[in-house]
Amino acid sequence: MRILLVEDDRSIARSLVEGLEGAGFEVTHVSTGAGALAADDHEMILLDLGLPDMDGRDVCRELRGRTKAPIIMLTARAEEFDRVLGLELGADDYVTKPFSFRELVARIRAVARRTVEPGQADDPTAPQTIGQLRLDRRTRRVFLEQTEVQLTAKEFDLLAFLASDIGAVHTRTEILENVWDAHWYGPTKTVDAHVASLRKKLGAHEWIQAVRGVGFRLEPPE
Ligand code: CA
Repeated sequence: MRILLVEDDRSIARSLVEGLEGAGFEVTHVSTGAGALAADDHEMILLDLGLPDMDGRDVCRELRGRTKAPIIMLTARAEEFDRVLGLELGADDYVTKPFSFRELVARIRAVARRTVEPGQADDPTAPQTIGQLRLDRRTRRVFLEQTEVQLTAKEFDLLAFLASDIGAVHTRTEILENVWDAHWYGPTKTVDAHVASLRKKLGAHEWIQAVRGVGFRLEPPE
């Protein structure tokens, strides 16, 4: 997903760009309202309310007039952002600073899910980039940085399934039903064994995190 980040605070912008790119997003950063209005169309816009050259509300209204991309406003507590007004301006959601990176990513994903129109979703056969990992469902090949990772058919299916919703927790049962068979009654240990071999091949245990008592989630290592 291509994200336009409009943020004048250099240190916030730097850490957001780093984090979002690490999470597999493509990020363009501009630091002014004028820059935001001059930018190419993106698939998601993160818009700081307090900008040096223009009021973020005006930028929001202007952007809304020219793009369908969802807009998430980044607001400071002191700015007393009026949620209703924000939504009237065409923002899809907002987060209040200071926010955690995880919270922002969760908001981005939720807004993206809500706003995808049928037929506008990304081409499902296009290779997916997740941090340093590239997953090509069409050719069933996986690359870590530039090196191909040799996976078994099931390992590939498992990775592709976890990658279908990055960061989300998938239960063992869900994984079994989707990756193995809709009516799999075998031991859930099968999932754990495949997760272990995938982790080994991806070179970092952190790629696939176990959520105790629930299941697994895929996320690029920090
Ligand atoms: Ca600001």
